[in-house]
Amino acid sequence: MTGIAKSKKVAIVRCERTEESCPGTSCLTSFSERKHTFKDYDENAQLVGFFSCGACPGRRIFRLIRNLKEETGIDVIHVASCILKETPFPKCLHKKDIIKSIQNMGVEVVLGSDAKWEKEIELKKKEGKLEDYESIDELLDGAGHW
Ligand code: SF4
Repeated sequence: MTGIAKSKKVAIVRCERTEESCPGTSCLTSFSERKHTFKDYDENAQLVGFFSCGACPGRRIFRLIRNLKEETGIDVIHVASCILKETPFPKCLHKKDIIKSIQNMGVEVVLGSDAKWEKEIELKKKEGKLEDYESIDELLDGAGHW
């Protein structure tokens, strides 16, 4: 789920519940300033979509990504930090399924959309709850997730 190539068509999916209070500023500025998980994109990379999952259990994911593929030839979907983190956001019980759904449609997944996910990973490493990025996949399963 890592390895960002250049000049990509990029979209961000976020949590519908978080959308009620978040205007998306952190995600959008992170992309426009090429920071955090967007830092390796060049100036030609385009943000071609910014959408919510459609409420639990991610009911709009398939349709939106199908349309993005048809209309834009989307390359990469960033799964927003609000889907991945558990505080202060509502815990998502469907994050792993959301990630797999995107991958099953042949679109690359990158975890995180701003500084919050990076900070979470660093914090969990310091606490000894995470050794490396290879551990993330197991943690996203749910039961063992922080
Ligand atoms: S499926 Fe997850 S990301 Fe989507 S609304 Fe529910 S908690 Fe949020």
